[in-house]
Amino acid sequence: MASSSRLISRLALVTGGSGIGRAVCQRFASEGATVIVADLNQDAAVETVDALQRGQKGLEHMAGQIDVSSKDSVKKLITRIQTCYFQPPSVCVNAAGITQDDFLLSLEEEHFDKVIQVNLKGTFLVTQAVAQALVACGAPKGSIINMGSIVGKVGNIGQANYSASKAGVEGLTRTAAKELSFGIRCNCVLPGFITTPMTDKVPDKVINKLLTLVPLGRMGEPAVADVCAFLASDDSRYITGTSIEVT
Ligand code: NAP
Repeated sequence: MASSSRLISRLALVTGGSGIGRAVCQRFASEGATVIVADLNQDAAVETVDALQRGQKGLEHMAGQIDVSSKDSVKKLITRIQTCYFQPPSVCVNAAGITQDDFLLSLEEEHFDKVIQVNLKGTFLVTQAVAQALVACGAPKGSIINMGSIVGKVGNIGQANYSASKAGVEGLTRTAAKELSFGIRCNCVLPGFITTPMTDKVPDKVINKLLTLVPLGRMGEPAVADVCAFLASDDSRYITGTSIEVT
């Protein structure tokens, strides 16, 4: 549970309104942040916002629709945020993501492209748009947190597309941290196997096999959000360009 009010006065954009993204929104709101949650599925975003503690200083949280793989859609959301709050988000968590698993020998090109489009290009587009908006408003101070995955580091059978996309997210994050070092920190969180709608799709026999690789011998909770709150806050002010494993 939240232990402080360290996110008061932060405006935070979280993409992906279910699973980990929803847990991040709850944690941020409980620490005082005003949260904008944006998802491909507007209903999921609304459901997430409806369950949040009220924003500080009377600021309302916002639910938005976004397709992170579309530059136009990303731009529209950032414009809407600035119109509504008169500022860009100073915290951004890129948690939108998909899987389309198959073995390398049979993986369709279309499924490879789709996963790269959402997970890697989507993270690029949102990171770029938020950073551009912060620079344009003359107060480039912020924290961008990208959801990678442990499989981007170690690989995973049936996930050539997904693991490549997540390895890309780490490279993107490290480079963004170097280029934006004037005030915008960029870090990655690498979850292991976390119980969410994404992993609900994985067959039990695969989960049981994967659990033999997990030191704690169990799936994690979306409490990955605790690490995101740390990275969003000034407690991590000397941390950028790194990846934190939650495995
Ligand atoms: P999730 O519950 O499926 O959440 C992902 C969300 O992203 C869904 O609400 C999904 O909407 C949304 N989304 C999909 N495509 C989108 C798009 N083009 N634009 C905007 N939103 C889109 O999965 P999760 O487990 O919380 O995953 C969150 C992040 O953590 C992902 O990046 C995932 O790769 C990463 N991760 C998860 C695990 C794990 O074990 N769960 C491990 C490592 C990393 P729809 O439901 O409408 O598709």
